Amino acid sequence: MEGALSGSRCADCAVAAYPAEPVCPRCGGPAEPVALSATGTLWTWTVQRYAPKSPPYAVPGTGFEPFAVGYVELPEGVRVLAALDIPPERITIGMPLRVTAAGGVPRAAASGVTV
Ligand SMILES: [Zn+2]
Repeated sequence: MEGALSGSRCADCAVAAYPAEPVCPRCGGPAEPVALSATGTLWTWTVQRYAPKSPPYAVPGTGFEPFAVGYVELPEGVRVLAALDIPPERITIGMPLRVTAAGGVPRAAASGVTV
């Protein structure tokens, strides 16, 4: 399913988490589901040069190709692991990204929006 990432926010201390947690990772208080921001900035990244374990990874019919992965830092303070739909030569730490839930690992693409 494409769309906003489903995270959680603590009802007591407002700490956000992704994936959603029923309990706050900081204070143990009750956490409620929340849709996280769709934009953030690239915190760090690397290139995955070998196929991840399968399953759950499904090798494409055209064969495995190395791909970029990174952590996207959202305004909520959460860092989300995402596959980067950006050529590695154009990736820079701190660049603005748009993140979408993609059914498995979230995906991120370059965004012209400054956050
Ligand atoms: Zn909390």
